[in-house]
Amino acid sequence: MLRSLISPSARCKNSDNRIGMPALQTIPIHPDAPDKPAWGGACNGCGVCCAAEPCPVGVLVTGRRRGTCRALQWHDTDRRYVCGMVSSPGRYLGLDHHWLNMALSAVARRLISAGSGCDSDAELVD
Ligand code: SF4
Ligand code: SF4
Repeated sequence: MLRSLISPSARCKNSDNRIGMPALQTIPIHPDAPDKPAWGGACNGCGVCCAAEPCPVGVLVTGRRRGTCRALQWHDTDRRYVCGMVSSPGRYLGLDHHWLNMALSAVARRLISAGSGCDSDAELVD
């Protein structure tokens, strides 16, 4: 399912490179994903932020700077998105070592500030 969002912090640039209107973007999102909470609310795994663009960790491990992060995973049982770099980092780094995966998962949790609340000001508009 496709949704449209506006990110006030991600402004378009005009042809003369001046900051203009907030960027309107279309993102793919699972139809059962929870509604996005307001900025600062508890993260519920809606996936909007990571569907819009990869965070620095996502850029580093997937090599992509735009579009939905390849490490974003939908969990059917929990009906929410999770960060693949937290749940199974070895999958994205080509590693198959339990303890190393656990250590990398802990590092990823710190780097993405997991559990510290929603840091996305994006608003779904349809
Ligand atoms: S940080 Fe916000 S936008 Fe990102 S998954 Fe959590 S609730 Fe959704
Ligand atoms: S938090 Fe995880 S899934 Fe989201 S953009 Fe960053 S690396 Fe990708």
